Amino acid sequence: MNNIIDGKAFAADLRAQIAKDVAEFKEATGVTPGLAVVLVGEDPASQVYVRSKHKATVEAGMASFEHRRADTTTQSELLALVEELNQDPAVHGILVQLPLPKHISEEAVINAIHPDKDVDGFHVNNAGRLATGQDAMVPCTPLGCILMLKDRLGDLSGLNAVVVGRSNIVGKPMAHLLLKENCTVTIAHSRTRDLPGLCASADIVVAAVGRPQMIKGDWVKPGATVIDVGINRIDAPEKGEGKTRLVGDVAFDEIVGHAGAITPVPGGVGPMTIACLLKNTLSAARVQNA
Ligand code: NDP
Repeated sequence: MNNIIDGKAFAADLRAQIAKDVAEFKEATGVTPGLAVVLVGEDPASQVYVRSKHKATVEAGMASFEHRRADTTTQSELLALVEELNQDPAVHGILVQLPLPKHISEEAVINAIHPDKDVDGFHVNNAGRLATGQDAMVPCTPLGCILMLKDRLGDLSGLNAVVVGRSNIVGKPMAHLLLKENCTVTIAHSRTRDLPGLCASADIVVAAVGRPQMIKGDWVKPGATVIDVGINRIDAPEKGEGKTRLVGDVAFDEIVGHAGAITPVPGGVGPMTIACLLKNTLSAARVQNA
């Protein structure tokens, strides 16, 4: 088996399975799972994400509702829209694309989403349920990572896992998922001492930092599994003047030769995130139809 984890192929298989499950669900219930995506402002990266989410949702046989608002939208207007979507029976999942403009509290908006429709898994109820080991809507990126890890390694029980990054959307939920799989988990962050030494003790390294190629080759022990969540755009003069390319948070070329398995960027964690959003939307539709 190749040691590069092909997230694109894994996500394509998962999306095909979800499309089948959606068709069966529609047949059995007469209900079409629906995902509403809210985009505030003109952030170019967010526009790309929203377009791909719409395309993937429609391809899976689900209904996609897009709500675009100007960046002058007020917090109360946005909260009113969220409440409207909470009440709408055709909408089973609600995703508010982050970041929001600075005058709007992301926390207030996320926590206004009904927890059953919170397909991003960011609502405090879902975060709390995950942290206490209960069934929860799990944030899409860490969910994609754990699915790939279990597929590659099987039983994760007893393995040492180091998660670099402690954000609420990636690092913390990732750590809880690994703990649920009986890993011994350490969460590292910007104040961690001897990060290289800590990573070198790990059987699994998950990098979610946002710093290009920060995790170096000699930080990773031979045979370890490396999941690179980072997406960073760097200059690529070798491709021509003004050109750029995407890299992760790990120095892929320094690690691929001795890692047991590693996700590439692009083509690793990224495609799994959207597949898991579809998975969560179908789960939400099932719960709301039960
Ligand atoms: P955040 O900026 O919210 O968190 C980054 C974390 O990295 C923080 O906990 C921070 O520590 C830690 N950190 C920063 N510098 C260091 C350092 N020198 N040593 C150790 N830890 C450090 O980022 P996100 O979690 O939102 O995202 C992380 C990366 O993942 C980004 O590149 C992002 O683009 C990518 N991403 C990719 C997704 C995908 O679909 N593939 C989805 C979501 C994110 P502290 O808390 O102390 O500040």
